Amino acid sequence: MSKKWVYLFTEGNATMRDLLGGKGAGLGEMTRTGVPVPPGFTITTEACNAYYDYGKKLPDGLWEQALAAMSEVERQVGRKFGDPANPLLVSVRSGARESMPGMMDTVLNLGLNTATIKGLADQTGNPRFAADAYRRFVQLFGKIVLGVDGEKLEHVMSHAKGKNRTDNDLTTEELQTIANEFKTIIKADTGHDFPEDPHKQLQMAIMAVFNSWMGRRAIDYRRIERIPDNIGTGVNVQTMVFGNMGETSATGVAFTRNPATGENDMFGEYLINAQGEDVVAGIRTPLAIAQMAKDLPESHKEFLGIARKLEAHYKDVQDVEFTIERGRLWMLQTRNGKRTGMAAVRIAVDLVEEGVIDKKTALGRVKPEMLNQFLFPIVDAKVAASTAKLATGLAAGPGAASGKVCLDPDRAAEWAEKGEKVILVRTETAPEDFHGMVASDAILTARGGLTSHAAVVARQMGKCCVCGCGDIDINYAKGEFKVGDITVKEGDFITVDGHSGTVYNGQIKTSESEVIQVIRGTLKPEESKLYGYFAKFLSWADEVRTLGVRANADTPTDARVARMFGAQGIGLCRTEHMFFEGDRIDAVRQMIVASSLVERKAALAKIEPLQQSDFEGLFTEMDGYPVTIRTLDPPLHEFLPHGDAEIDALAQKMGIPSADLKRTVHALSEANPMLGFRGCRLGIEYPEITEMQARAIFRAVVAVKKRGITVLPEVMIPLVGDVSELKKQKEIVNRVAAEVKAESGVDFEYLVGTMIELPRAALTANKIAEEAEFFSFGTNDLTQTTFGMSRDDAGRFLPKYVEQKLLPEDPFQVLDQEGVGQLIEMGVTRGRSTRANLKTGICGEHGGEPASVKFCHRAGLNYVSCSPYRVVIARLAAAQAVLEGAKK
Ligand code: PEP
Ligand code: MG
Repeated sequence: MSKKWVYLFTEGNATMRDLLGGKGAGLGEMTRTGVPVPPGFTITTEACNAYYDYGKKLPDGLWEQALAAMSEVERQVGRKFGDPANPLLVSVRSGARESMPGMMDTVLNLGLNTATIKGLADQTGNPRFAADAYRRFVQLFGKIVLGVDGEKLEHVMSHAKGKNRTDNDLTTEELQTIANEFKTIIKADTGHDFPEDPHKQLQMAIMAVFNSWMGRRAIDYRRIERIPDNIGTGVNVQTMVFGNMGETSATGVAFTRNPATGENDMFGEYLINAQGEDVVAGIRTPLAIAQMAKDLPESHKEFLGIARKLEAHYKDVQDVEFTIERGRLWMLQTRNGKRTGMAAVRIAVDLVEEGVIDKKTALGRVKPEMLNQFLFPIVDAKVAASTAKLATGLAAGPGAASGKVCLDPDRAAEWAEKGEKVILVRTETAPEDFHGMVASDAILTARGGLTSHAAVVARQMGKCCVCGCGDIDINYAKGEFKVGDITVKEGDFITVDGHSGTVYNGQIKTSESEVIQVIRGTLKPEESKLYGYFAKFLSWADEVRTLGVRANADTPTDARVARMFGAQGIGLCRTEHMFFEGDRIDAVRQMIVASSLVERKAALAKIEPLQQSDFEGLFTEMDGYPVTIRTLDPPLHEFLPHGDAEIDALAQKMGIPSADLKRTVHALSEANPMLGFRGCRLGIEYPEITEMQARAIFRAVVAVKKRGITVLPEVMIPLVGDVSELKKQKEIVNRVAAEVKAESGVDFEYLVGTMIELPRAALTANKIAEEAEFFSFGTNDLTQTTFGMSRDDAGRFLPKYVEQKLLPEDPFQVLDQEGVGQLIEMGVTRGRSTRANLKTGICGEHGGEPASVKFCHRAGLNYVSCSPYRVVIARLAAAQAVLEGAKK
């Protein structure tokens, strides 16, 4: 017997998401719990994978099972598929495990042909309705399944309507003529007659949905959302119900809470006398669901009851689709609603406070990266009040953005590629615009509500979006849009505020988000509801996590921000960053080009007090928290002047001949600086540099200690490959510490440790730990040296690797757990074998990337250190790591 490829809705339930896809599992669950769902069946995601395994052929047994399921559906509804007298019509829709809104194909009204159209007219007593259903079916099937250019078909429609009529004004005869013209175009384009046999139509539609799984849109979407390609899509074949059968029919979509803000306020939109796709496609701007209480009071009441029941059942916000066919309500879909980061946090907190879920569940409901949205810039309330608005629409996606108006998605992608800031402005967006939406800084649409394609996709991507902005009138041919008398041309600047739904002409200065304003102390916490939710949610993360979170910070300002985001110390201060400030660079350059020890010491003496005061600033901000300061790391020639003019100017300043300086610069240039004279190699060659830095650190310790500040300094030696290097540098640090203690009469504690950023360091970690009191994994260099890919040059070829799936991700962004991860695990285990209490952390870019943070938790590190703005992401990821571990 062949595998089971087909499940009736009556056989499915919510736990079968992997097998049936989200939509299929949702339809099964609703059917099971007694919600009115038009009968149907789901073809499994495994069948989709098998379809590709067999070279795009339906796997054995699938078709027979689909026919058997169809017979059962026929029995349930009392109609027959393909029966001219009493036809059953179906929709055929995709549905993967993860929802991919609008990215795959859908066919409606399938089963219609020249014979069954009469049956439909008799069933409904409405020949015009039947003719319209057929017209829609041929158009959709022609475009989606047969691949005919949709514009050609649309052209027939617009030609028939003329200037002043809508779809609803077309007569039965006109609709019939249109359908026939469609068929003529289809025959001319494909060389085949339009398929009459409903079974053939069904088979072709199923295959079209499977094919759309590997379509450009779907692949692009999966890349961005990190959805794997091998999970496949389900296919849902469902009895058609019609929202376009007159004034007691309607179709709509709703979120049980507001998906943009998270407010506990049902947000929905519907259209009377319309078919499903009309609402989502944004073709007509729909009405608010509250209006339904007046138009269709019975159905409205029933709908609210079901929506509430579904939210309680799933314990999460539901995104539902429904159709009312001549007064009878049918639910077509329910799924957990996609939401902005702000909404995700607010909903999670509210559901805990309503007693629906516990805190742990709430923590799992927000993707760590989504917290970024709390930090997006906004248009300041004062600026907004004093600036003329160009237009207003619905606030659909977070943040505010200024950029050049672009009316075409391909062009938007081109402009963005060149580094332009782009605002994509469209009447409405369609799934094929996805690449342009990704490339743009914000999206503005003239039509469509909060559940339109533009809004759903923008929300999902965390992209600024204003939709349904009816004030704007776009003229694609002229490359402009108008608002009243004002004309905005492609290339002109506008500003879009996704929080208020406002559009401004020109570039408006944006301000820091409310959360950042609170953090900086320019807004009181109690004045920001948003901050309240944000802070409460993160405090729950802190209750759960065991991994420490520190920040990489080089200046007191960064350190302050880091503390306010909850950093528990500094995990990496790159001292070389301090060398670039003001005119310090001159002293640094003098140090580098010094031709004798005396000259070098003289230059170092100028730098030392500056470094000391920097460290005092850092220690003061980090009162009571550890601060890891790394000795000089980068290749020296990075500090040197480049080009003749710069060299001449510096030589003059230093009072040395240009030719001498040129020679020094030349002598310091390296073929491979990333593996050259850098890291501790500098301190080995020039011990006086390490000595100066150590003295600046310890004198700073003494100075702030005298002011009552608790300092926990950690001196870190970079790029160690052999314990002997560390030993040598540590001797200097210890000697200087003793000298500073003696000269000041102040005692202090400190640690000396090392970066582990070379494979040899990880391999010999047991030996290195004999000297090192802590390890910090420098995964930027460790990735570079493990892969043998230069950090400076990988950008040229790595994107291809990811595109061609040679690597799942860019390993400089997402830790390569399989390879580099092994070195980390080995480093921790071997290090602790000789020093049981060895403190371990990570300070490469990966320290703020959620999957990598979770890995660090599992590897037993004590802390991660990341940029100040990623601290909140790391806090949440660290909490999720604990909860995910407990689940296992
Ligand atoms: C690293 O290599 O991961 C690191 C943090 O050091 P840097 O990026 O400064 O080389
Ligand atoms: Mg490094």
